[in-house]
Amino acid sequence: MLPFKLVYSDDYYLPIGAHVFPAEKYKRIHDRLLASGVAAPGDFFTPRPGTDEDVLLVHTPQYVNKLKTGTLSAREELELEVPYSPELVRAFWLAAGGSMQAADYALDDGVAISIGGGFHHAFPGHGEGFCLIHDVAVAIRRMQRDDKIRTAMTFDCDVHQGNGTAAIFSGAHAEDVFTISLHQQNNYPAVKPPSSLDVNLPDGTGDEEYLACVGDALSLGLGKLKPDLICYIAGADPYREDQLGGLSLTIEGLKGRDAIVFRMAKAEGIPVMVTLAGGYARNVEDTITIHCNTVVAAKEVFAGTGDGVRNSE
Ligand SMILES: [Zn+2]
Repeated sequence: MLPFKLVYSDDYYLPIGAHVFPAEKYKRIHDRLLASGVAAPGDFFTPRPGTDEDVLLVHTPQYVNKLKTGTLSAREELELEVPYSPELVRAFWLAAGGSMQAADYALDDGVAISIGGGFHHAFPGHGEGFCLIHDVAVAIRRMQRDDKIRTAMTFDCDVHQGNGTAAIFSGAHAEDVFTISLHQQNNYPAVKPPSSLDVNLPDGTGDEEYLACVGDALSLGLGKLKPDLICYIAGADPYREDQLGGLSLTIEGLKGRDAIVFRMAKAEGIPVMVTLAGGYARNVEDTITIHCNTVVAAKEVFAGTGDGVRNSE
């Protein structure tokens, strides 16, 4: 048994057909974690979907209505870069519920991982970049509304900047949620609304330089705000074989990144909830490995065994 909970449902699957986003990855991660003995069936907990009320804590009534009634304009639908369907909307509401559940579990156990989520390109009034709604932001606002947390920090290591996160928590909200994004400068999104802290990495950044930035950025952020919850967006796409990324991390480097985040959160006594976000490796197996390694790294750090840098393979 893991010393923390994994949140997962087969219904995390995104019905988007053949697509660069490997929607089957969630089930394959689940299956690999079981087959490899990293996790047992009892480690997985099934989330309930978020309610419309939850989603409305972040998104505008107009946008939510369009999603629920299938009345997005052609342009809005195009901007999603995934084909709209009512089933897809349901999958995103479930992802939001999964992130809420993981945030709640993290407060109990120090860490919890949703084998999904991390849809950081969704804005209050529109979706883009494969993201319909922002599951992590919904989780933060719901936890705050329920008085379970007062402050939060997002730590986004997807290769693409967390533009939706930055927009949602900008301005008046900057003191209750501190947003950090480490990303490739020369990549989507073209317009990058400012996070509380943005680390713009040059093309081809490798393990050593990247890992130094991870530690520095998290230290800097924690120096500004000691949050009640860290939301770690553990994108697999800084990988050197990624089709939509231009950084040069190895699989080992990405696991080292996860271990740094978990060690620092644990040392500070701050609960951390994890979502997976992007991963578009030429070989989907690599994406599965990188995401599974996030669970392995958490296990090593939070079970107090190992040094958190070994690979699961
Ligand atoms: Zn990405």
